[in-house]
Amino acid sequence: MVIVIDYDKCRPCGIYNKPVCIFYCPTGAIIQGKDKRPIVNAFLCEDCFECGTRCPYKAIKIKEQTF
Ligand code: SF4
Ligand code: SF4
Repeated sequence: MVIVIDYDKCRPCGIYNKPVCIFYCPTGAIIQGKDKRPIVNAFLCEDCFECGTRCPYKAIKIKEQTF
């Protein structure tokens, strides 16, 4: 599985100055890029989908990984 962020739907959001998805990710797999947008590190992600559940704009989806 892979976490995909739809940047057309992603909007500035936050709890205590952290984007919601970053705040709730239990593994620290999401960081903010230079443009402040969230980026998922697939090596740290454990596919719990807490980020997608919490995202207020439904900008995060979980997809089957295809190689
Ligand atoms: S929680 Fe959703 S809207 Fe907020 S930064 Fe993350 S992806 Fe974007
Ligand atoms: S699925 Fe879980 S581990 Fe992966 S980025 Fe989202 S909150 Fe973090």
